[in-house]
Amino acid sequence: MNGINLLSPQQAESAINSRLTCSLIESLPLMQCVGATLREDIVAERDLPPFDRVCMDGIAVDSQALGRGVRRFMIQATQAAGSPALELERTDHAIEVMTGAILPRAADCIVPVEQYSVANGIISLTSSATSTPYRNVQRRGADGVAGMVMLKAGCILGPPEIAVAASAGLARVRVSSQPAFMIISTGNELVEPGEPIAAQQVRRSNAYGVAATLRARGFGRVGDDHVPDDEEMLRERLKLHLTTHDVVILSGGVSMGKFDFVPKVLIELGVQEVFHKVAQRPGKPMWFGVGPQAQAIFGLPGNPVSTLVCLIRYVIPAIAEAMGTRPMLHERLALASPVSFDLPLSYFLPVSIEHDAWGQPWANPRPTNGSGDFLSLAGTDGFVELPPGPNTYPKGFVASLYRW
Ligand code: AMP
Ligand code: MG
Repeated sequence: MNGINLLSPQQAESAINSRLTCSLIESLPLMQCVGATLREDIVAERDLPPFDRVCMDGIAVDSQALGRGVRRFMIQATQAAGSPALELERTDHAIEVMTGAILPRAADCIVPVEQYSVANGIISLTSSATSTPYRNVQRRGADGVAGMVMLKAGCILGPPEIAVAASAGLARVRVSSQPAFMIISTGNELVEPGEPIAAQQVRRSNAYGVAATLRARGFGRVGDDHVPDDEEMLRERLKLHLTTHDVVILSGGVSMGKFDFVPKVLIELGVQEVFHKVAQRPGKPMWFGVGPQAQAIFGLPGNPVSTLVCLIRYVIPAIAEAMGTRPMLHERLALASPVSFDLPLSYFLPVSIEHDAWGQPWANPRPTNGSGDFLSLAGTDGFVELPPGPNTYPKGFVASLYRW
């Protein structure tokens, strides 16, 4: 089959991304923001550290006294982390301090507990105790200054970023709202797991794969429906779902079969077709359109490998972009063995990532037995995109990797 007049994957991707509207912003409690895209710059509330901070358990003393040869100090007081700064009254005094405490006034260095002994309230330093100013003290502002941008809008809030936002004193942050997804599988032959099944039927596995993909990426608003190949029912249900969802992901019903009603019904419902078919394997019949309220409608082919590949290749990156996530460079990986493919289509080849004796990762080809063979996908890490042209891709050919 000739792919010359069809969009390439890159053209399809641009066509989708240029039509998606940017998602709304909401302010959420910080604890609910893991994995979310930040939509504001976060600035430092105070200097970091905010005060000269003791970073060893020990005693705070005047380094000049040590320099003059003083080796015995009287314990004047104890100051825990969180207590206000005390003041050293004499240069032969010491204040016991704990990690995280503010440096007592008139003291400028910390001798760690391992470097002295205590008897009757008197400290005796061992020979290893030395006296540099600000030894074992993290100076105020050494990591950053008040008002500096600590996190930029567009970053994904992973665990370190959440901790940084908390350090800025923010109980809530502004992040991209999650789209409301609706997954719709179509097909008379499909049966829910757990239900009895006849010889001519198959399990409705795509919806599970799609939902798992979305949930694994932290999306929580994921609805799920099944519609038989009935034009009227499809129209009714799609109409309903379009009113309540931002992104509709259909599987099946977009090919040339007599019961593939999805594109026709979508257009009747006012969805504007952006493209139908992409020069790719698997997933050639893929359909994309935009609804009257700017809903994104993806009609993914029903073959399970096609559904997952199209979801990962197009839907996930498009949603990330619409959510304002700063684009990341594609992971690239070299093929571990040669691959032949002689159609004028982009080829999405499942791979597992394997490391050689030097720890170098390679994309090990794990071709499926056709686009219905999702069993072969188990244990793979994702797929590489091989552009049309060479027919034979040698070992070492470098391609973009998409992880499941
Ligand atoms: P279609 O795109 O509707 O022509 O379906 C292509 C193939 O994928 C057929 O063999 C279907 O039985 C199968 N299929 C469609 N939808 C699903 C699904 N949700 N789960 C598993 N297989 C499916
Ligand atoms: Mg079907």
